Amino acid sequence: MKRTPLKRKTPLRSGHGGLRRTTLRAKPRPAEDKVDPRERRHVLLRDGECIARKCIRLGLVPDNHVCRDALGNPLPAMPDPMTLSLEHVKEAAQVGGNRAPSTRRWMVAACYHANNGDYWVSKYRSYIRLYLEWLDSKGAL
Ligand SMILES: [Zn+2]
Repeated sequence: MKRTPLKRKTPLRSGHGGLRRTTLRAKPRPAEDKVDPRERRHVLLRDGECIARKCIRLGLVPDNHVCRDALGNPLPAMPDPMTLSLEHVKEAAQVGGNRAPSTRRWMVAACYHANNGDYWVSKYRSYIRLYLEWLDSKGAL
């Protein structure tokens, strides 16, 4: 049987290097919304520990959180703060919309697990707001 070569009837789209645009990709963050490395460093060193551990240590919430890394391994009691991640906290509880500004007034340190594992930061956001308000009132942001 004679084979006929497969032939494309419509030309490949050009103009995007042959790649199709996808709507699945999230919009890139505007430059002013990216976290400045100095701001990140300041917040991680200021807090010095996961916000969940801090609130538990201060007796604000029940002891219901174990700090873990992205692989699920428990963190040491005093992890290097620079290995923690940043959590953005908006001024008031709201669903959707833009995230809080990437400034020290609206960010705290949190372990990976508090952010993406047990979602501690989502459950206790009001305490995080109180902590940031307290820092602000002390001029200690
Ligand atoms: Zn934690």
